[in-house]
Amino acid sequence: MRIFLSALILGGVWGGCASVSTRLPDITAPQISGEQTRQEALAFEDLERQQQRLMQVALPVLKANTELCPKTRQDIGVIMHSLKNYPKALRPAAKRELGAGEEPSIRLVVKGSAAEAAGLKAGDQFLTSKGKVTTPNSKAIQAQLNAGETVQIQRSNNKMPITVTSDTVCGYNVRLAQTSTINAYADGRNITMTTGMMNFVKNDDELALIIGHELGHNTMGHIRKIVSNIILSLGGTRYTRPFESESDYVGLYYMVRAGYSPEGVEDFWRRLAVTNPKHVARAKTHPTYPNRYLSIAAARAEIRAKQAAGQPLIPNFKTDDNKS
Ligand SMILES: [Zn+2]
Repeated sequence: MRIFLSALILGGVWGGCASVSTRLPDITAPQISGEQTRQEALAFEDLERQQQRLMQVALPVLKANTELCPKTRQDIGVIMHSLKNYPKALRPAAKRELGAGEEPSIRLVVKGSAAEAAGLKAGDQFLTSKGKVTTPNSKAIQAQLNAGETVQIQRSNNKMPITVTSDTVCGYNVRLAQTSTINAYADGRNITMTTGMMNFVKNDDELALIIGHELGHNTMGHIRKIVSNIILSLGGTRYTRPFESESDYVGLYYMVRAGYSPEGVEDFWRRLAVTNPKHVARAKTHPTYPNRYLSIAAARAEIRAKQAAGQPLIPNFKTDDNKS
């Protein structure tokens, strides 16, 4: 028996296959390409679901807080794309699954947005007055949108006018980064959420809490302040701890103002502690998880008291101290 097995193994080697010792199942090339198509379809389906959810949850936060945002912009609520936005290896799948083409078209219409109300659909293309394909961020389309004029769009083979009443929103872009790391960040212009964070948050209220936190970094000018602190102190990080606390504080106001429920959202920090116990008590640049858990609960009590008294939901600024 032993001799027979050895002969089999040798046979395998001499047969030109890789030097494995077992008989592997035969998989055909068409089977593999069929499964590749399915996996790519699943990946794009998940990406679109995450992207839609992020934009859908972020839109009310950006809309409800314009009076607290130092800059605003007009938004219709679409994500555009063309083939060149995708890595080369994924372009055939982007074309097949999402209808991406050489020229920009609508990839996704955000639920609850002005674009959805106007009837815009994925695949629609914006046209200049001369009939050239353009993006809604182009000067020509922006001017038409701001003036409340109709815009020309191309849908399949038809050209048609569409009237879109854009929303005024806080002037920051919201982006999704495809990485399993649980993270979110702000750079003064953008709010970025990782797919790892999207999967970690338990519900839309928690997602709105994180969006509000990152919005807080942008509205409170933390990025600019950190840069100037680094220049002044050659350290910088000792100033980021209060900035994190401040973003947690104003971020909770932002999410409540947008209609999300703050009940239990501090639980985010307990769950993060479970996945990341080493960081519970030690945090060089950030407040500790217990501190953040308790501070969010305290800020909620402050917000609830204002709601009960019928007061406007505006964070307490230091200059307000002598008034209250
Ligand atoms: Zn932060």
